[in-house]
Amino acid sequence: MDYEVVIIGGGAAGLSAALMLTRARRSVLVVDGGKPRNEPAAHMHNYLSRDGFSPLELLKHGRAEVEGYGGEIVTAEVRSVSRLADGFAVELDTRTVTGRVVLFATGLVDEVPELLRERWGRDVFGCPYCHGYEVRDQKLVVFGEEKKVALVRQWSADVTLVPSVDDTEVADDRLVAVISGDRRHPADALVYSAPVKPRDEHLLALGAETEETIAGPFVRTDKFGRTSVPGVYAAGNVTDPSAIVIVAAAQGAQAAGMINMDLLSAPREG
Ligand SMILES: Cc1cc2nc3c(=O)[nH]c(=O)nc-3n(C[C@H](O)[C@H](O)[C@H](O)COP(=O)(O)OP(=O)(O)OC[C@H]3O[C@@H](n4cnc5c(N)ncnc54)[C@H](O)[C@@H]3O)c2cc1C
Repeated sequence: MDYEVVIIGGGAAGLSAALMLTRARRSVLVVDGGKPRNEPAAHMHNYLSRDGFSPLELLKHGRAEVEGYGGEIVTAEVRSVSRLADGFAVELDTRTVTGRVVLFATGLVDEVPELLRERWGRDVFGCPYCHGYEVRDQKLVVFGEEKKVALVRQWSADVTLVPSVDDTEVADDRLVAVISGDRRHPADALVYSAPVKPRDEHLLALGAETEETIAGPFVRTDKFGRTSVPGVYAAGNVTDPSAIVIVAAAQGAQAAGMINMDLLSAPREG
């Protein structure tokens, strides 16, 4: 085997797992496509001691920490993962590597419609905990869910619910209005819960079982990140749609601890 652990995805979950495993002197490869979910946002909130930090800056520091302990990180896409007698073969764009176990930390995709993509993570967002404070007491428009209105009112009394979003108006690079049907609603921000899709195709191909969540079926893990497939682990948004950054990082660390213990009990080759 080339590595003891191959981690697919180098966001908060994957890098946090890599940090713990490299400090435990495991040989680790992180394969990362470099597209963390919160990339469109300039600032990250609710991460204790790093509130307001740039999401990409956080990952830059995380990468340096992992590399400082001898972890390898490559920027590449994983094309397939297949089971071998004593581990897994992970096919990248450029080469194939092998690992005794695999951790998926591949996150999810927010399926934001084209119309809203340009402003996503700026003044169009789904998570009021992440962005609400920055638009407190402003004009907020909520698309869709009535029950989200009560939540969003914690940040502003000026909240309008709309049944559709047909267009937006932007001036000086700021959202100014949302068009819904034949009505124009002045707006400083739009709260839009985009459907989400886990990046789980390789997990499913390996036979990982799913369970129903608030956002549809996601790969099921135990609380230590073990999937239903021996040797295959998952952490962060690929298995938990509600995990914010600090939770995804914690899940990565949790999975790393379990991986280390499982590797101890698995026979080593050679
Ligand atoms: C606009 C926006 C703003 C947000 N703001 C906040 C905030 O302020 N605070 C907060 O706590 N949370 C915030 N979140 C949520 C946050 O993005 C997630 O909690 C976090 O990204 C989950 O981390 P993760 O490691 O599970 O996945 P990600 O950060 O998405 O990382 C997954 C990584 O895996 C890689 N990958 C996927 N598939 C492959 C493959 N096949 N091969 C190789 N690499 C692959 C991706 O390129 C990516 O780099 C926000 C979300 C959005 C959409």
